[in-house]
Amino acid sequence: MSARTAIVTGGASGIGGGISRRLAADGAQVAIFDLSGDAAKAAAESIEKAGGRAIGVPVDVVDRAAIDAGVEEVRARLGQPTILVNNAGLTVENAFLETTAAAWHQMISINLTGTFDCCQAVLPHMIEAGWGRIVNISSSSVYGPPPGLAGYVAAKSGVVGLTKVLALEFAKHGITVNSIPPGFIDTPMTRDVVDRGFIDLDQQIAKTPVGRMGRPEDIAAATAFLVSEEAGYITGQSLGVNGGRII
Ligand code: NAP
Repeated sequence: MSARTAIVTGGASGIGGGISRRLAADGAQVAIFDLSGDAAKAAAESIEKAGGRAIGVPVDVVDRAAIDAGVEEVRARLGQPTILVNNAGLTVENAFLETTAAAWHQMISINLTGTFDCCQAVLPHMIEAGWGRIVNISSSSVYGPPPGLAGYVAAKSGVVGLTKVLALEFAKHGITVNSIPPGFIDTPMTRDVVDRGFIDLDQQIAKTPVGRMGRPEDIAAATAFLVSEEAGYITGQSLGVNGGRII
């Protein structure tokens, strides 16, 4: 993967942190876009200490101007980005009738519009290079939705649909677009919903045939494959990484 430049949104912690570390270990130059510039820079420094090449860039994926500026900074410092992992996301539970317009729009703007904007900002670089890989992190909740997550599940379902359409539109440019719906992965986001009592850790593990929570490294391994040269014939697909769970 040497000479490829990758952008990972929400790449400072959780699943995104695992993906950033893995792509760097595989030889990519990695730009970590995250809400917190300090966290993004700390994650990049830790990759560089391990011998990889990474930079941290403060980018809120709901801010199109910040995305465009971030992509330009990546092009100037690391070269043309041809790998994009749309991982930044947020989940907030709400009973449907109590969901405010602001809460609904927050779910759509971070999880879906952020993915749209990052794709639109990076695709011209991939087209120019005649090669590209996009991986959109969706959610297994799209395929087995729990009650109380209407905004999140609607947004992540949109990500799956967007993935399929982009795959068709950009295949002729050597660009693949796939999604990964993670199962139940051990990250700060998951620990937060467990701590708030929205889901029960033991129950979730009991529902998982492999008998454990997933790790960011499990999602990172699938991402590394989908962005590789050899995955060039796979596009428009959703690769579940969920320990065998059906719902
Ligand atoms: P996480 O632990 O909360 O990490 C998400 C990262 O994204 C954090 O660094 C966060 O920054 C950053 N971020 C949040 N909003 C952002 C924004 N607007 N712009 C840029 N960065 C932003 O979450 P995770 O569990 O790793 O989840 C990663 C992705 O996987 C999400 O899209 C999530 O929906 C999806 N997913 C996760 C699971 C799971 O079991 N963990 C299951 C299904 C799907 P701060 O820390 O500063 O907020």
